[in-house]
Amino acid sequence: MIFSQSIRWRIQLWHTLLLAIIVTVLLYAFHRSQREITYEILDRELTGPVTGLLPRFDSGGGGPGPPERGPRRRPGGPREFDELSDDFPPGRPGGRPGPGGPPEERLDIEAINERVAELVERNIYVVAWGRPEDDVIYQSENVPDTLPDRPTQSEPGFTTRTRDGFREVIHQSPNGRVIISGTSLQPYEQKLATLQFRLIGIGGGLIALGFLVGSLLISRSLKPIKTISDTAHGISNGDLSRRIKIPETESELGQLSTVLNDTFEKLETSFEHQVRFTADASHEMRTPIAVILAKAQFALSRERTPEKYQDALQTCMDSAQHMRSLIDALLELAKVDSGEFNLHREDRDLANLTHEVVELIRPLADERKVTLVTHIDATPLSFDPQRMRQALLNLLSNAVKYNREEGEIHLTLTRNEQGATLSIQDTGPGIAKENIPHLFERFYRVDRARTCGKEGGTGLGLAITHAIIQAHGGTIEVESTLDIGTTFRINLPA
Ligand code: ADP
Repeated sequence: MIFSQSIRWRIQLWHTLLLAIIVTVLLYAFHRSQREITYEILDRELTGPVTGLLPRFDSGGGGPGPPERGPRRRPGGPREFDELSDDFPPGRPGGRPGPGGPPEERLDIEAINERVAELVERNIYVVAWGRPEDDVIYQSENVPDTLPDRPTQSEPGFTTRTRDGFREVIHQSPNGRVIISGTSLQPYEQKLATLQFRLIGIGGGLIALGFLVGSLLISRSLKPIKTISDTAHGISNGDLSRRIKIPETESELGQLSTVLNDTFEKLETSFEHQVRFTADASHEMRTPIAVILAKAQFALSRERTPEKYQDALQTCMDSAQHMRSLIDALLELAKVDSGEFNLHREDRDLANLTHEVVELIRPLADERKVTLVTHIDATPLSFDPQRMRQALLNLLSNAVKYNREEGEIHLTLTRNEQGATLSIQDTGPGIAKENIPHLFERFYRVDRARTCGKEGGTGLGLAITHAIIQAHGGTIEVESTLDIGTTFRINLPA
């Protein structure tokens, strides 16, 4: 099977693709949130020192004008606060920085250095600028080589920025001083990169696991399809007895299998019927043909008297007539099978037709000394008179044929709410219980040896009667007691 046409692989592909998208999105979101949390914690760690240092810078270090500018950093190492303080004019005691502001003060170097040393240990650097026109007034020894620029910020307050692999928190005081505390992002980025690798590994693992579990589940779910396909193959190769064996009958495929098994059952039964029907039909045809051939051979073998010829011709005609009725019956049943068994309904009184059929049968009944007792109510109905006559004739002739000498037939036609009920009860030998379900099968005879060919019977009469009643939407039932008699009851809808 071509890979792209396999249902199994298509489901597997979509399932894995969907899983991969979900896992990727989830892990990406997780990594992003981890990054945000890391930066948030980092920003909090960096904000603390600035807040702590702020009062110390705010209380001095400024001057009325910019100090004499010079290189703020000596090559070879950061400048110490006490060195820096040489470049700045001493703060005015008790004063506040800024032009026109309170008197300036010198920075409390000792306190700042003490505090900054603690931060340096935690790899945090600090840079401070004086009022807008001032240069750097303080920088810790671990300031990176690329000294941060004085940030330009219009409003006083905190902001954060990421610069050349460093995270910095900037604070601008209302009087224009700026303090930056920052740290290298490298260790944090390294941790995030490790997390990223792990997440990629976990994601890959999850997708692989999903693929395997999905593959297992899909295989299990689609296994019945293989069983169904194998069974169908077996059946198409002629083994009609094969059935789909699926333990889970409640699942969708289990239900489909049950339906298919029912269909296969019906197919097998219908095929068997077909085979038996053909065999039976051939067998039935052979008997009259054999009779005709034998009689013809007998007549032609030598000179015969006119009586003998007449007798041979009569037998040939009887056999030919039997063959004709057999062929007619077969054609009728072929119409039933092909769905061309059409009714030509007419609105009539079924009582009239029943009287007509009784009169047709009466000579045969008289011949066998069978008494016909009838109770026929007026029953206007819509039915096909020709076919209904055929059905009643079959039942009545059977009631005479399979009756005892001097027996009785009770025929009753009654009208009721549902429509009409016609029953034909005889006083014949009756039918054994085990034979009753087969009565309406084609060519079925209870006692084949006894009834075969008797009175020109074909074994198709009841099958045709059943088809006629069914076509009218009615039902036909049989009740029988051995040695007492048989009753055929027809119910016809209004
Ligand atoms: P057949 O041409 O043999 O009469 P039918 O289809 O009319 O074919 O009947 C089938 C078989 O059913 C008969 O061969 C007979 O064995 C049995 N049968 C039919 N009607 C009766 C009946 N009234 N009493 C007993 N047996 C009957």
